[in-house]
Amino acid sequence: MTTRSDCEALDAIDPLAPIRDRFALPDRVIYLDGNSLGALPRHVPQRLAEVVERQWGVDRIRSWNVHGWTDLPLRVGERIARLIGAEPGHVLAADTTSINAYKAIDAARRLRPDRRAIVTDTSNFPTDVYVMRGIADDAGLDLRIVEPDAVVDALDKSVAVVALTEVDYRTGRRHDMAGITSAAHEVGALAVWDLAHSAGAFPVALDDVGADFAIGCGYKYLNGGPGAPAFIYVSPNHRGSFRNPITGWFGHAAPFEFSLEFVPAEGISRARVGTPHVLGLVALDAALDVFDEVDMGYVRAKSLALTDVFMDLVGGWMEVATPRDPERRGSQVSLRHTHAFPIVQALIAHGVVGDFRTPDIARFGFAPLYVRYVDVWDAAAALRKVIESGEWKDPQFLVRGEVT
Ligand SMILES: *Cc1c(COP(=O)(O)O)cnc(C)c1O
Repeated sequence: MTTRSDCEALDAIDPLAPIRDRFALPDRVIYLDGNSLGALPRHVPQRLAEVVERQWGVDRIRSWNVHGWTDLPLRVGERIARLIGAEPGHVLAADTTSINAYKAIDAARRLRPDRRAIVTDTSNFPTDVYVMRGIADDAGLDLRIVEPDAVVDALDKSVAVVALTEVDYRTGRRHDMAGITSAAHEVGALAVWDLAHSAGAFPVALDDVGADFAIGCGYKYLNGGPGAPAFIYVSPNHRGSFRNPITGWFGHAAPFEFSLEFVPAEGISRARVGTPHVLGLVALDAALDVFDEVDMGYVRAKSLALTDVFMDLVGGWMEVATPRDPERRGSQVSLRHTHAFPIVQALIAHGVVGDFRTPDIARFGFAPLYVRYVDVWDAAAALRKVIESGEWKDPQFLVRGEVT
């Protein structure tokens, strides 16, 4: 069994250890919720303050041109592209994941106008499914929601689009993105991937697997801050043919011609809708600096090691919902317990921050850029204490906020 000194030894040789100092993390807290809201890189507040005070405060309207505000979605998109295996010019940072899901899935189904169905699975995040339901209802398509293991079998020539989240937000189970994408292509369907729990957690290879569209969050492992802009990827194959269903002026070929006739922009700019969220983009852009210093291969290796150690430490006395097979998991470990909610609250009182997902999941995200091996050990020890002492039974731990 891994000891605390084993963990200290692993930290001592961890090539990512110095990166932790780039983040603002309180001393006595073990933050295992970076899969929900990434920690703050220390240099972000100053960068934001400069933009607010100098660019907004002093340069004002000129900043659109002088400071390149207009192109921020493309520039930030290029930085994300590197992390998800896309060539520059195929990723845009804008809007929310939900809005991008709508744009991507609707664009995909329009590229297969003769097909009747959209396929997703029961493990998908609700917003993705709600968006698909709306698209399916409006377009008169069937929405087929199958078990995660039954996705490939559900693919046939009636399917226009298969839209999935690569890593299950509840269990951390990772889909075989390459396998499912090629199975979709074999029947002539398109594949749309939500990378909310992938981008920044491990290397993704969108171009290599031939994904058609992808979307993802800026505020999870990319650390862009609360409500950070999301991203959308459009495969080079669909660059000239996709239709963004929200035809706003920034997706126009020449927005400042103010023509009343919509002419779509070329390339990824066509995925744009309205005025860029400058402050959110500036924070995300700054946060991405940290990724310039790291090798995503190391990030993945560390993520697997952290999650392995945690599963080793708790697996004997907790039910682990996350697959042990490294190919099959993301960067989180989920535990099942009937009283997962108060257990997570009691752990938070001990300074170990995870979260709860209904109905019975205690979820721990291991963001490899700032979680240490000793944190894993200490979190497992605190969990054991909370369970063995029964302190989670205290009624104070049953109080639920709106966000769990
Ligand atoms: C976090 C998450 C979202 C969030 O979407 P927003 O529009 O940013 O609220 C969407 N999809 C998945 C799979 C997620 O994990």
